[in-house]
Amino acid sequence: MTQTRTCLCCEREIRGRVDKKFCNDHCRNDFNNQLKLSANNPYVRKINLALRHNRKILEQLMRSDKEVTKVPLDRLNSLGFKFKYLTHVYTTKKGTTYNYVYEYGYLPLENNWYLLVKDDKKVRFSENHEMAGSSN
Ligand SMILES: [Zn+2]
Repeated sequence: MTQTRTCLCCEREIRGRVDKKFCNDHCRNDFNNQLKLSANNPYVRKINLALRHNRKILEQLMRSDKEVTKVPLDRLNSLGFKFKYLTHVYTTKKGTTYNYVYEYGYLPLENNWYLLVKDDKKVRFSENHEMAGSSN
């Protein structure tokens, strides 16, 4: 199997074993140190916590259902859902924009109801999938 892999640290092409992720130990250490640094950064931690909290709420609300469910805004608020924290947005061809928290998406409906969806498909960031806040 010929598959081009790139180093997770320096993004140079790597050769060798299929499970190789870094070109050398230096890159591996660099990458792991960076990961630790960002995980300990208070700003990153705060947002990660908020995102995980939001995801839990959506997961909990969807558990009883299959792929789609409707909930009132009050329910989301009472569970402490924070609308400003999301991972990405998805706009359909028709122009409907879903906000996502990882694999769970939501869409405001009429009369303060929200449509919740779960995206089980393999995550692919196409032109329509833009990371939140990267549109500057
Ligand atoms: Zn490297």
